[in-house]
Amino acid sequence: MASDKESSRISGFYKMPVEKRISITSEKAALTTEEERLLGSGGGLGIEEADRMIENVIGTIAYPLGIAANFRINGKDRLVPMAIEEPSVVAAASNMARLMRGDEGIRVTSTDPVMIGQIQVLDIPDIENAMKNIIEAKAELLELANQQDPVLVRFGGGARDIQHRIIQTEAGEMLILHLLVDCRDAMGANTVNTMCETLAPVVNELTGGRVLLRIISNLADKRLVRAECFVKSEDLGGEKIVDDVVAAWAFANADPYRAATHNKGIMNGVVAVALAVAQDHRALEAGAHAYAARDGHYSSLSKWSKDDNGDLVGVLEMPMAVGIVGGVTRTHPTARLALKVMGVSKAAELAEIMAAVGLAQNLGALRALVSEGIQHGHMRLHARNLVVMAGAEGDLIGKAVEALVESGEIRFDKAQEIVKRLKG
Ligand code: NAD
Repeated sequence: MASDKESSRISGFYKMPVEKRISITSEKAALTTEEERLLGSGGGLGIEEADRMIENVIGTIAYPLGIAANFRINGKDRLVPMAIEEPSVVAAASNMARLMRGDEGIRVTSTDPVMIGQIQVLDIPDIENAMKNIIEAKAELLELANQQDPVLVRFGGGARDIQHRIIQTEAGEMLILHLLVDCRDAMGANTVNTMCETLAPVVNELTGGRVLLRIISNLADKRLVRAECFVKSEDLGGEKIVDDVVAAWAFANADPYRAATHNKGIMNGVVAVALAVAQDHRALEAGAHAYAARDGHYSSLSKWSKDDNGDLVGVLEMPMAVGIVGGVTRTHPTARLALKVMGVSKAAELAEIMAAVGLAQNLGALRALVSEGIQHGHMRLHARNLVVMAGAEGDLIGKAVEALVESGEIRFDKAQEIVKRLKG
């Protein structure tokens, strides 16, 4: 059982003022005074740091950073930082995590962190002979790849295997080599790309063909994570809700139009954590959606079912190419701090937490959809955005939100009318 200090179960966190939330987070994550100050500073990224990250910098843009409470994952309590502009996401994750705390909480596992680098070979005179030469030279090619990253090898990672595929395309037959690289705690794109580029001239010689592309695949189906949860039917509102959640999932699993939104809900959680710790979220999105279509039919990344006791069981399996070294994970001050708040010391741990959040987020959306509808939870926050857009400031915001919610018509024209009236 987690001690009070370690527990992520913080009752009424959402009702507390921001300063109190910061001090609780700070105490639980043992933040320094400087780190605590960074949290309240509005983004935490200096213009010089930003200028070193990308080109043509003119500023920075801040996102709200929230804490999803209540997560218990493989028996360990975690506070989960989420950066997102969309209302209701952090609340839904926290609420669902509370229902999933039984036993060890959400159970997670992951494969080794193996990424795939692709080498495209064209114009091969004898493809059988080319493949034979590649297979014979495999050890030598792997050795050459590993020479490019002695640090990764020292940490127990490195190039592991080379696989080949022949594909028929509109530009003719191609040999595609897959370099499998265990990236340990790195996301691995730079590492894998460097290795693939280094192998290219040797592959040209061995195949008698011409290497064109040498680049990582974001369909990271050798770097998978699995999260499983169990929710008692009475905690969810009864067995009918369990049946309806299963029916809602079956809809997504059968229909790509629904699956796209179902999986978007999962990615609300995954990407919000990814942003908080400065991950390549485009890579995660690409990997997730490609994996969802791996059978040639785009469908749900998760699966929901009812067990023999009438309770709900959820499973999410997806690629999760994340790193806690490399990229900007260690150079963005807030990202570094967010990793500390989560208590993560391995990339696999981060990947597993992100899958747990994705699963909780998925249930949050499904539960709302099968009961009061998705707009109910969004309403008040949406109303707030509308009145601010309509020109409300300071004390007027709260009054205008109340009036808009009471009107039952949460629309921009109505917000404008109310703000105009209140401004007198
Ligand atoms: P990186 O090259 O910055 O750092 C990874 C390196 O850190 C490793 O190669 C290794 O030498 C070292 N290292 C130290 N300790 C390690 C440990 N414990 N485990 C593993 N490595 C350790 O980063 P990267 O992860 O190779 O690349 C990630 C970056 O590449 C991201 O910024 C991403 O946006 C970008 N990128 C992505 C794509 C894509 O298609 N997804 C393409 C190009 C670039």
